[in-house]
Order: sequence, then C-alpha cells, then structure tokens
Amino acid sequence: MLYAYDDNGKLSSLYQLSKQRIEQLRKEKTYFCPTCKESLQIRSGRLHTAHFAHFPSSNCERKHQGESEYHESGKWLLYQWLTHQGYDVELEFFLKETNQRPDLFFTVGDKRIAIEFQCSTIPPEIIEKRTKSLNEAGIFPLWIIGKNQYRQKGKHQLLHTTFHRSLMYYFHSNFCMYYLDVKAQTIIIADHIQGSSTTLCYANPRFYSLKSVTFPQLFTSVPYPSFSYLNIWEKSMYHLRTTYHRRVGSEELQWRQYLYLKGKHFSLIPSVCFLPVPSQSIYHVKAYMWQTRFILDHFMEKPIGDVINNEQKVRCKTINQYQANPIQEYILMLGKLGFVKKTGEGEWVKLKEIQFPTHIDQALEEDKRVMFFLRRQTNVVL
Ligand SMILES: [Zn+2]
Repeated sequence: MLYAYDDNGKLSSLYQLSKQRIEQLRKEKTYFCPTCKESLQIRSGRLHTAHFAHFPSSNCERKHQGESEYHESGKWLLYQWLTHQGYDVELEFFLKETNQRPDLFFTVGDKRIAIEFQCSTIPPEIIEKRTKSLNEAGIFPLWIIGKNQYRQKGKHQLLHTTFHRSLMYYFHSNFCMYYLDVKAQTIIIADHIQGSSTTLCYANPRFYSLKSVTFPQLFTSVPYPSFSYLNIWEKSMYHLRTTYHRRVGSEELQWRQYLYLKGKHFSLIPSVCFLPVPSQSIYHVKAYMWQTRFILDHFMEKPIGDVINNEQKVRCKTINQYQANPIQEYILMLGKLGFVKKTGEGEWVKLKEIQFPTHIDQALEEDKRVMFFLRRQTNVVL
C-alpha cells in the first residue's frame, strides 16, 4: 500500500521521496496499517514505487486487495491536494450509513463529500447503486475518472462509452466530467459535453495542475468555448449519408433493417432525424437512430392536428440527479423548425408533414438548410 500511519499517528507516504530519504525512514520510523494497525515493512526497488507491505504472517484484509498502483497514487495525490487546502480528509473511511468505503471522505461547511477515484471500468449499475446510497445519506459523490480512461481525438473529441456516460454531472446548464492525470498531477475538467456517436463526445477539456486549483474551483462555470460542435455534427451527418460501411455493428444493422421494412433507406432519412439535442451525450442510443424511430413511430402516421406522444421516459440521469430528457428537447426543436406546435403544458400537436428525401442531393440540400437554421439559433460564431 502507498500510505500508512507513522509512529506519531500521521498518515504518510513514500510516494515521490528520494531513495536516500526512504533508506533513512526505513531506519528511523515504524509504520502501521490504517486498517489492521499492524506494523508494516517498507519495500522499495527499481521496478516498483516505494510502498508499505504487511509481513507474511499478517491476516489483514488489505494484504490481498491488490489495488493498482495507479489508483493508490491517485488517491494519495488527492488526499494531499485536499489536506493542503485545510480539509480534514479521511482515506477509505468506513461509512456505516451506506456500508461503503469511499476513497476519500471530508466535509466542506455542512456538506459531506465522498470522492471515488475510478480507474477501471465498472458496470453503470454499480455506479448508480453507490451514487444512490450516498445521495440518500446526504453525501455528495464526486467521481473522478483515471486518466487511463481518457482518450482525446483532436481538440474537442473525447472517448465516451457507457462507463463515461454514467459518470456525468450537470452544472451551470452543461454536462461535465472529471479526470485525474496522476503522472502529470493534473485535474481535467471536460465540460460543455455534447454528443453524437456512442463512443465519442464533443467537449471542452480544461487542464489544471493540482497546485493551481482548489476544490471549490472544480464547480465554477467558464464561458462557452469558441469551438462549434455543429461543424463536426454536420460532417458526421454528411458521412452517414455518403459513406457506405460494409461492416456495421448490430445496433446499426437492426436500425437499417427497421428502415428497410418501412420501405426507407438509411442514407435518405430526413435532416430532422439527426438533430443535436443538448442531452445527446448522456443518451446511449445514437441520435439518428432514436430520432428516426420517433418520427416513424410517433409522427409520420398521425394526421396534422393530432397530439404527439412525448411520454417516453429514457434513462438519462446524471450523478448529481439531473434528469435529462432528450425526447422533450427533440420535440422542442421540432417546434422551432415548425413541425409541431405547443398547445398546452407538455402538449404538442403536429403542424406539418416531414418529407423523406427521394435522392441524395435533395437530402444534402435539406441538411444544409437545417444546419443554417441551427447555427442562427445557437448564435455560434464561425
Ligand atoms: Zn493491515
């Protein structure tokens, strides 16, 4: 393990100490396990970061826990970072009320905060369950993802899988998430997250050295970045229509099959079946797939003047309990484009038919028109 109590009861680590200093400490100090309180030995060598280990006779539960070095170093970095800011932080404190041992636990004013440093991908159900019990106990959960789960493509595209989607926050009217780069000792805040595909999102990543950022600063808002994700969105729309992929995933295949049975082709879906709704990044289904299904199942067959069913609920909740509603947002956009009209609280009626283009040039022309409209709506400077 990377940290232990010294003989003065102070939580200490050998992380990033010089070889000489470690040898000195080996002679001068005794260290104790935070869990079982037994004395520990120091291990250091060329291959491993210096750390503490139980003696062979020990029966401590932590002896075989095998946490990764990356995870342990990250926890220790966060511990030091918060301690230097004056917070009274507990590492792996056992919370009776939730029966959990969050990586770090501390209070800010009357707020109790638990930090989980998550380096390995775990199922969303587990994240949801742990988050729920912390929320119910009135403890704010801050999930920080390990840099090993961070991939950046270009300036504004990040890897975004089901795992990432389940660790999103919603602050100041935008989606964000937190990463820790242990090696660079840097916190990465990816915010203004928008999404289109199931494995990538568009975001504005900001990098802060731990030395220059405080805990409350993680939650402050920054002005909207100058990048326009609509450009990328437009490109992927063009790509969808014009590039033929022989091999596609099963979800894509099912969607194409579904369209085929309705007598439609995927390259000729209406432009309004690919609208960038704000919550797309937290929804696991690709925008053009769920929007096409919505149009075909809940819009096309209805006569003008009929009420549009918008009751569908999708699982899109952030860690801090913001319930996103992509379908409502979509109907709102259809309203702005003049296809539906609001007639009461949450009630919309069909105003105009949506036409399926009959050839590709017509589809591309229509895409341009819709994009032009969206750019005017969002006031994005290009
Ligand atoms: Zn122990």
